Amino acid sequence: MRLSVRAVPRRAGVALELPGWLDDVACTPEAAGLFFPPDGDPGDEAKAICRSCPSRVACLESVLGDPSVEGIFGGFTERSRRRVVRERAAGRPLEDIIAASDVAADQVRASQLARDSGVTDLERNRARQRNARRLQREARTATQEEAAA
Ligand code: SF4
Repeated sequence: MRLSVRAVPRRAGVALELPGWLDDVACTPEAAGLFFPPDGDPGDEAKAICRSCPSRVACLESVLGDPSVEGIFGGFTERSRRRVVRERAAGRPLEDIIAASDVAADQVRASQLARDSGVTDLERNRARQRNARRLQREARTATQEEAAA
């Protein structure tokens, strides 16, 4: 899936030069509405798309400097991006912030699933640990790929 290479910068309010990362994104023009969920909707569908996006870090980076940008970018709502900005100002790498956010989201999802299915605490903790390891691996790989590029 791809969002139009013009749609993201328009959403970000940066319509002049199109950065190269827009050539490789996971969202599509048809899905654009998902990235602007109504009040009370956490936008999980859009966030899931962002998690699979090869340009996630660059996309998130592109909007962090402008708190007026609305919608989900890089898997973060405008509200959650304020936290990203604060954590980054404290010296935390963006990749780590993203990975930690994904772990937290997975934990919430796992808790919901466990409540629904009666999974034990031990099984739930193991699933969390597996998720955390997977996300750390993905973040490391993304960092290495960026460094090699
Ligand atoms: S991170 Fe999300 S909003 Fe940004 S380009 Fe990728 S899929 Fe689209």
